[in-house]
Amino acid sequence: MDIHVIFIIFSVVLNTVSSGKHDKYAGYTVHGVHLRDVQDQRVLYELQHKLNLDMWRYGVPGDRPSLVMLSPKQADVVLNELDRYGIKHYLDVADVFWNLAEFDQNLISYRRSRSERLVPFEDYPTHAEVNAYLERVAAQYPEIVTLVTAGKSWESRDIKYLKISTTNFTDSSKPIYFMMAMLHAREWVTTPVTLYSIHRLVENLRNEDRDLLEGTDWIILPMANPDGYEYSISDDRMWRRTRSNRPEISTTCVGVDGNRNFDALYQPSNNPCSLTFPGPHAFSEIETRIVRDILHKYVDRIQVHLDIHSHGNYVLFPWGDGTLTPNAAQLFHVGSVMGAAMDSMKLPSAGFYRVGNSALIL
Ligand SMILES: [Zn+2]
Repeated sequence: MDIHVIFIIFSVVLNTVSSGKHDKYAGYTVHGVHLRDVQDQRVLYELQHKLNLDMWRYGVPGDRPSLVMLSPKQADVVLNELDRYGIKHYLDVADVFWNLAEFDQNLISYRRSRSERLVPFEDYPTHAEVNAYLERVAAQYPEIVTLVTAGKSWESRDIKYLKISTTNFTDSSKPIYFMMAMLHAREWVTTPVTLYSIHRLVENLRNEDRDLLEGTDWIILPMANPDGYEYSISDDRMWRRTRSNRPEISTTCVGVDGNRNFDALYQPSNNPCSLTFPGPHAFSEIETRIVRDILHKYVDRIQVHLDIHSHGNYVLFPWGDGTLTPNAAQLFHVGSVMGAAMDSMKLPSAGFYRVGNSALIL
């Protein structure tokens, strides 16, 4: 071990000890679970709901393992249970605390190495930085960009989106592409995808992409859940939910799973501390109501609504109960083209994109 390595480890200790932010994940582990079939999937699904397990990634039987985070207490029960069913598993992250500390350290080093040259889509920008970027782009390109402040989050942060159009949204024959990200707070990598899309459409349009701008109107909402995101920066890196606080429902657990808060297959729950708590009723959250209102306003013209999540390389389409929409064949076709395009540019270490109905794939 050379002196450089020692220094890095030492500074990791200093940083984390001083903040204590990741303390609650000391001793937590992440396990890969090899699913053989739907039966194994069901075993893991039932454990997840019984023990409120934090799934990092859903797997596909015979193809890619699930990743599940376990507290020391959960690990005893879950690993025994998997063994009992003959389901193979392996240790993926030996200590989540150290994993998160290392992530912080790498991010600090990366930012230092880029110094002034860092642009928002090459970073994990704060909510304020995202809004500043949207404001700058709108001010600089008023002929094609309109900035909309859709409302305020539970904690009063402005939720903004851009409308990008060469015809100021007046040509009703154009389809609308509605792209959004960061409904789940900890999925940090999703917002830069939207910012890069804005950059490519507005600031750096290439000739071969000209039809994307001219033939389509765009709605891009980079940060649907800013409260959760800021909380995941300041307090809990693994935070997923919104930050709505309703003492009449729970005095200990705040927020709801935004994904499950829509009035589509909404499933009531009386466990507000569950990681997948859908909220006291559909659209209880201002953050999901904002998405709903965009969809309602433009429903006649929206041809794609892409909600970006991480992690796991999937292109998924409705519904969550395994039933299909009438246009499922077209969705599968479009999803396959998207998946293949992303496959052609993915890192060698990343898995190929799997395409299909969310319930049937996951
Ligand atoms: Zn998600």
